[in-house]
Amino acid sequence: MSVIRCTAARVDLDALASNFQAIRQYLASDAVLNRAAGAGPSRAPGIIAVVKANAYGHGARPVARVLEDAGAAMLAVADTEEGVDLREGGIRAPILVFGALSVSDLSGIFDYRLTPTISSPAAGRALQAAAAERGVALGYHLKIDTGLNRLGFRHDNLARTLPELLASAHLRLEAVHTHFGTADDPESPLFEVQRRRFEAACFALNDLGGGPHLRHAANSAALLRDSRVWYDFVRPGLLLYGLVPPPLHATLALRPVMSLSSRVVAVKGVRVGEPVGYGARFTAPRPTSLAVVPAGYADGLDRRLEGRGVVLIRGRRAPIVGAVSMDMLTADITDIEGVNPGDEVAFLGAQGDEAWQRIDAREMASWIDTIPYEVLCRLGARVQRVY
Ligand SMILES: *Cc1c(COP(=O)(O)O)cnc(C)c1O
Repeated sequence: MSVIRCTAARVDLDALASNFQAIRQYLASDAVLNRAAGAGPSRAPGIIAVVKANAYGHGARPVARVLEDAGAAMLAVADTEEGVDLREGGIRAPILVFGALSVSDLSGIFDYRLTPTISSPAAGRALQAAAAERGVALGYHLKIDTGLNRLGFRHDNLARTLPELLASAHLRLEAVHTHFGTADDPESPLFEVQRRRFEAACFALNDLGGGPHLRHAANSAALLRDSRVWYDFVRPGLLLYGLVPPPLHATLALRPVMSLSSRVVAVKGVRVGEPVGYGARFTAPRPTSLAVVPAGYADGLDRRLEGRGVVLIRGRRAPIVGAVSMDMLTADITDIEGVNPGDEVAFLGAQGDEAWQRIDAREMASWIDTIPYEVLCRLGARVQRVY
């Protein structure tokens, strides 16, 4: 496309590569420390780089390419379709599919050399049949449900559910994994409960003849929280994109990968008492200058930003006032001198070196009571990503 809309997302692939290396160094340094202490992992785990949901809105193919080159052991996606898209984009690294398999169409797994997660006996049966039909041995990861109560074989029922799967002649167990429900909540006891259940499940798996196998469990929050759950691989998503899952903090040198900006298309003055935007929900309390910005909820900007969020213009914070509409919003620039059409408007990104001249997805999420994951993933399809 030759014309770029003024509302565009810039995706900094150097920042992405640098975040990957920062995580890798963190894993290596802590591993050394733990080895000295005689606890924790004895070698740094590999990284399964999570690129589901269009790489958290950043664009799956370019992000996957960088992570593949950076040395990710595997890439992980939510479903077969996402995996197929990466293969068609030329990605050659192993690709793990997290989600439940659609039983009706397993051919993508075979045709595109994807690694499925098997999370139920029925899925195991279907894959065994499909692999037998093709005369191949299919490697898979086994998912254990240790308390999230979503997908996976129940941790307390394995002696009954696993033998049939482990006896499948055309399926080869490569790794076993689980997923934490409360890794980002230091107060929650469930994390430790899940960790113990997972370790017990791995012993049970060995007893049932399912060894040796590799293990993985840690998303970004778990990775930061407890090196005992690093096992053979960790599975960061959010950290790769330069954000620490709230409310956690980390000393890792991460850089936000995405910035989102637009331009002022018009400057408008309104008088005291005049309403602004749909629903007339904002009324000018004083003579007010507004910047009209051509970005709205169709671009993924939440309507709840009205009256709660800010944008950066000329290095200053301008409150979003009036309704966020489909294609437009308005910001109060009364206190900012000299704003003109064409000036840059930053939604995510920096306009200077001070902390308040910087907005990231974590801060934006805090204004509207959501999580940075949602802010990133909801970035609209019409917002062009510039790499
Ligand atoms: C999304 C996901 C991850 C990554 O989570 P982050 O919090 O972004 O690090 C890891 N594992 C599974 C199973 C996931 O679905």
